[in-house]
Amino acid sequence: MRVSVVKEIKPAERRVGLTPAGTAALVADGHEVIVEKSAGLGAGFADEDYTRAGARIVSTARAWGEAELLVKVKEPIAREYEYLRPDLTVFTYLHLAADRELTAALMAAKTTAIAYETVRDADGQLPLLAPMSEVAGRLAAQAAANQLQHPSGGPGILMGGVPGVPPARVVVVGGGVVGTQAALVAVGMQAEVTILDASARRIRQLSELFDGRARVVMSNPLALEEELAGADVVIGAVLLPGAAAPKLVRRNHLAKLKQDAVLVDVSIDQGGCFETSRPTTYDAPTYRVDGIAHYCVANMPGAVPRTSTRALTNATLPYIRRLAGGVHEALAADQLLAAGLNVDAGEIRHAGVAAAWPELV
Ligand code: NAD
Repeated sequence: MRVSVVKEIKPAERRVGLTPAGTAALVADGHEVIVEKSAGLGAGFADEDYTRAGARIVSTARAWGEAELLVKVKEPIAREYEYLRPDLTVFTYLHLAADRELTAALMAAKTTAIAYETVRDADGQLPLLAPMSEVAGRLAAQAAANQLQHPSGGPGILMGGVPGVPPARVVVVGGGVVGTQAALVAVGMQAEVTILDASARRIRQLSELFDGRARVVMSNPLALEEELAGADVVIGAVLLPGAAAPKLVRRNHLAKLKQDAVLVDVSIDQGGCFETSRPTTYDAPTYRVDGIAHYCVANMPGAVPRTSTRALTNATLPYIRRLAGGVHEALAADQLLAAGLNVDAGEIRHAGVAAAWPELV
């Protein structure tokens, strides 16, 4: 099959859908890989890296026009709709339940659209969302450490303290993929870390994983209030699948935190889990409410496109290889991969997307 990689043109997006290593694997499988000129530059890959891996470098029009299976990062934006057609499969993050225009464009073009974010694994998890959550979680601890520093407008506290000086107190709300990675990095920096989660099963797993290096507490409103008292950093990482994030930290809680504390709301892409959160970008990542810094960047992995691109291909490549062997055959053979199918032959094929746009069904 001809697998194509295009340059991402959504503003500030520097990732790319496939690494040269992924390209080499597909070529070794006997597939043809075409890559749009300069597609990998933002992620640190030159055109020659792809040609050495066996790809052909082509123009924008050919990368779209000659593609059979197109692997991307972000959803096609309006300028790209003209390239959609019936004999094309697009495999990328789509978030169609929030994008009526793209849903209608994919249906009208009869394109096969498979969304990374709805592919499932045998545990019911979302294996193609996890790598970006891992990146965002680790970044959240780094961002918090940075915001505690005086040049960033912070109180001038070193996350891990030094011998004889206490470290920062970090509270992580939600101990899933994001929260675990945030806590691991904060613990690694020697901060004093507490993780709250609402799932008994998850609490047990976290207790085992951290083995005393972080406090693990069952989340409820009272426990949360107790943990917030005197915190230097609060990292919000809760998720209720398919729903807006619950507003667990209310405005009146802010007074309990240390003066000049830092909130990092990673859940902001689902509306945020702090009442006072609103989305920000890397151009102006923080704002203050009642003296408390709020860091609410909705696309955190965008800051580290080289790491994020490799992490994404690590997760997507096994699926790309299967789809390249025959899209509809691969979907028919695997229900968990088929959960990724959102639109096909002009019809919505995912319950969540259908529920969002009943008038299109
Ligand atoms: P996840 O499902 O792995 O973890 C969510 C955790 O929240 C679960 O362990 C769940 O038990 C817990 N939880 C639910 N209700 C809770 C409550 N009341 N109190 C405490 N814990 C509670 O999800 P994830 O992959 O870690 O993602 C977390 C959030 O981060 C999601 O909203 C995701 O979209 C977002 N995210 C944002 C970015 C970004 O750039 N801002 C990047 C990646 C992910």
